[in-house]
Amino acid sequence: MTANAPVLAVTDLKKHFPVKKGLLRRTIGQVYAVDGVSFTIGVGETLGLVGESGCGKTTAGRAVLRLIEPTSGSVEVAGTDITHLPKAELRPYRRQMQIIFQDPFSSLNPRMTAGEIVGEPLFVHGVASRRERAEQVAALFARVGLRPAQMANYPHQFSGGQRQRIGIARALALGPKLIVGDEPVSALDVSIQAQVINLLQDLQRERQLSYLFISHNLAVVEHISHQIAVMYLGRIVEKADTRSIFTKPQHPYTEALLAAVPVPDPAIRREKRVLQGDVPSPVNPPAGCHFHTRCPYAEARCKVEAPPLREIAPGHHVSCHLR
Ligand code: SF4
Repeated sequence: MTANAPVLAVTDLKKHFPVKKGLLRRTIGQVYAVDGVSFTIGVGETLGLVGESGCGKTTAGRAVLRLIEPTSGSVEVAGTDITHLPKAELRPYRRQMQIIFQDPFSSLNPRMTAGEIVGEPLFVHGVASRRERAEQVAALFARVGLRPAQMANYPHQFSGGQRQRIGIARALALGPKLIVGDEPVSALDVSIQAQVINLLQDLQRERQLSYLFISHNLAVVEHISHQIAVMYLGRIVEKADTRSIFTKPQHPYTEALLAAVPVPDPAIRREKRVLQGDVPSPVNPPAGCHFHTRCPYAEARCKVEAPPLREIAPGHHVSCHLR
């Protein structure tokens, strides 16, 4: 590992899925789910990865963790390239990178008690005796706002917010450096969302955790993210610090996502540029700028020429011919 290296450095990551057809299962095309994505996350930092459903953000998160194998590109964890590490060598890095899923109910085994679920990673990695495990699990329960007495309960006996706290405790069990949150609060009521986000922020400060926080909702990532990357059809179209994204968005797609975010102060009005239509299919996506079929500013060259992701101000990257 390299001192001062970012916790996560992702370079030109691609994940393409073949589309097969017919009896012989011939490959007739590719789904360009993630198509050349690059970003870094420093110690104690959060990158919010945002975009509509189908833009590739969940696939990117899973490819980073190697829960699915990337097609190309590289993933470095604390300076070590883990992209091609065989399973046995990947194991220590798996401990450092954990995931919290969107739907805590379906991601928790209904036949295991909450205590067994949170203690399972410790058991699998053989890092604690039975007694130590019980003590560590009790401490994790207390830390995420659950009572240690609830360790004997089953997932269906908890509310949605409590189940997500179990998911967080399980993710924390092995002392990770990086947590990928895949829409971790999207299934929760707004008031509970705020509580879970506050808990994640407290844990970040305490443990110097880094988060890759995936969400379709810019409002959700605003308070937790230091940087935001906006994805559209497999590519990052804008990337900047959170303040710049909210106050000086440069990509028409970011503008449109922001237009959908409610503004708490009625005196502040955002110009509404509501997005028309759905995200096109990532199988054979539109040529040129992928966004041209929905962009109110599209010009002739947008249909043929893909705009590169350029740095237009320090740390602010945009892929649009007009910027
Ligand atoms: Fe719109 Fe053209 Fe910019 Fe793409 S490159 S976002 S189509 S103006």
